[in-house]
Amino acid sequence: MEKTLIILKPDAVQRGLIGEITSRFEKKGLQIVGMKLMTIPASIAEQHYAPHKGKPFYEGLVRFMTCSPVVVLALAGKDAIVIARKMMGATFGSKAEPGTIRGDYGVSNAYNLIHGSDSPEAATKELGLFFKADELQTWKPTIQEWVYDMT
Ligand code: GDP
Ligand code: MG
Repeated sequence: MEKTLIILKPDAVQRGLIGEITSRFEKKGLQIVGMKLMTIPASIAEQHYAPHKGKPFYEGLVRFMTCSPVVVLALAGKDAIVIARKMMGATFGSKAEPGTIRGDYGVSNAYNLIHGSDSPEAATKELGLFFKADELQTWKPTIQEWVYDMT
């Protein structure tokens, strides 16, 4: 099973959307294998968004991501990375399709509620930044054989 790192950004937490957004992933069949509320240290936010260093929005993005608590989720599932990205919708809330998380809950470009890893390499790096090995659970729900057509 593939793993991906999701962050419910400070705007999602402050708007009371932790349950709504997490619930969508649960209902889809992505398995929660790690979950915590945390305030991101600046050094972690800088490493997380290192690919955007130098862009005009980078400094503001790091300030935003560290301004108040976020919820970090580690989700596991077949094609979890691509599935979670599809469920998030396009980067800008103003452009994201209805039915997606960003499309349904916001219009902002910068304050777009959620982060999701965009590749297996990014997922490995980001999971390592936000979770210690013993904070990730390995568990097999009994229902999994039906969710994934294993029987
Ligand atoms: P994502 O992978 O869909 O989150 O998008 P990116 O990796 O391209 O950008 C990372 C984050 O930076 C986005 O989720 C936004 O919060 C922010 N961001 C991206 N582009 C812009 C921009 O043009 N302006 C501003 N203010 N923020 C941006
Ligand atoms: Mg990105």
